Amino acid sequence: MRKREVERYRKHLLAKREELNQRVRAARSSETHETGETAADLGDRALKTTSREMLYRLSTEEQAILKRIERALERIDAGTYGVCLNCGGAIQPGRLAAVPWARYCIDCQELLDRGEITPLEP
Ligand SMILES: [Zn+2]
Repeated sequence: MRKREVERYRKHLLAKREELNQRVRAARSSETHETGETAADLGDRALKTTSREMLYRLSTEEQAILKRIERALERIDAGTYGVCLNCGGAIQPGRLAAVPWARYCIDCQELLDRGEITPLEP
């Protein structure tokens, strides 16, 4: 894959990640506002509850996407982005355009959906 294409996917991934993170932050700040607690009161607790809030604020599907986005960004840095994790073939550009964090090519995704291959961690 050409570097310019990879960078375009990276932008999509970063934008989507920002959108999800933004949603969590917005929910958290509105909550702070409603309870009238100061940032100092929340400081320590906020750290401890961050991951728990993530679970509440994002659906299971969104959490999985967030993880997949992180992995996809890692693969971009590693130079393996766009390679199917099952067969090692190139993931179709149309598929990456729709789902930039896709880990499998269309054929392998079908095998996965039919339970014929074992899925990787989220
Ligand atoms: Zn494949």
